Amino acid sequence: MLVHMQDDDVAGGDLTRMDVLAFLGRQGPASRATVARELDLSPATVSQVTRRLIHQGVVEPLYFAPSEGGRPGQLLGLVGDAGRAVGAKVAADHVVLVDVRLDGQVMATHAEEFDATAESAVDKLLALLSSFLQRGESRLLGVGVCVPGVVRRPDIGDVDAEVLGWAGMPLGGHLRKGLGVPVLVENDVKALAVAERIFGRGRGRPNLVVLTVGRGVGFASVCNDALQRGSDGGAGEIAHVVVSPNGRECACGQRGCLEAYIGTEALADAGRTSGVLKSGDGLDQLRASADRGEPRAREVFARAAQRLAQAVAPVLAALNPDAVLVSGEGVASWQYWDTSFRNTLAHRLPHWMRHLPIEVDDWDDTSWARGAAALVLATPFDRNAAAGEQRPQVLARLHSSSNKRH
Ligand SMILES: [Zn+2]
Repeated sequence: MLVHMQDDDVAGGDLTRMDVLAFLGRQGPASRATVARELDLSPATVSQVTRRLIHQGVVEPLYFAPSEGGRPGQLLGLVGDAGRAVGAKVAADHVVLVDVRLDGQVMATHAEEFDATAESAVDKLLALLSSFLQRGESRLLGVGVCVPGVVRRPDIGDVDAEVLGWAGMPLGGHLRKGLGVPVLVENDVKALAVAERIFGRGRGRPNLVVLTVGRGVGFASVCNDALQRGSDGGAGEIAHVVVSPNGRECACGQRGCLEAYIGTEALADAGRTSGVLKSGDGLDQLRASADRGEPRAREVFARAAQRLAQAVAPVLAALNPDAVLVSGEGVASWQYWDTSFRNTLAHRLPHWMRHLPIEVDDWDDTSWARGAAALVLATPFDRNAAAGEQRPQVLARLHSSSNKRH
């Protein structure tokens, strides 16, 4: 691939380093030749990239005698505990925290109820993070926080999130001051795209779309290896594109937004309207009903999937991604979205994009928080990352961490 042919010092180089690191994290120790073959890189590029990683103290040479005898072969392994990051997912009613090593291994998780609208919300979050940071033995590179909202600059971290009742909330500044470590704040779907890029299915895919369904609908894209943030950090905010002028009321105050038709609340509403759900029922009951084979329940999901596909088809045509990764809490019901989503896309996309891979991710409650941690863990290896002013501090911590080992 062209990106991998580039010199280490141009845009794609840092991502190549990230790919090598992620590969070693996933596969365990490997020879340079294996790395080159599996990642489709030239041996010269692998030598150059691994030399830098060894110099950084995040990869170490290991010597193993091959089982067949002969000369001992040199393998490279990740120094997984060269650094760690804590990630936090902030939702309106709870917080999930994870402690993640440089190689992506999750060391600890914690979930707690949280009222984002409370006046003391940010102090509460600070206290939660502060006590969580005490754990973990290797060096903390920083804290990543993801929010269901818009963040203009992750290294500053002012948050606009209607769901949380936050407008211009100086979250990053507050946490940096209170914790005394680098803090990056990002929109949750963008953070997830970063995690996919380093630890997940986005590996080796320079053009990627992440689509999330659940309480709302989320969209993030990676183009030519760079996460798209847009001029205000609002790239990908398709949830509040009006799909039906003067249509259903949306939580944002507008009418007819996409989210007002396919978010969790909208689906439960549609279930009640169609008579499958009773007044107090929610999405769980709708899914249970679909599981029992109730056609009206399945129809609710299928119609939502159709709307989603109609909305994203032009965007996908504009971006021409290598794959679409579907994620979010809503994937628990994806089996009822899948056929309708794929069929609608097939009818709307240009014919040469009909084979666009659509992959559905496993999902659990820590996925968002892992994304938040990935913001920090990607920083040393991704010049395209939005770590901005926090980047030198994260790098300094990584170096001080690796020096400690020798
Ligand atoms: Zn809206």
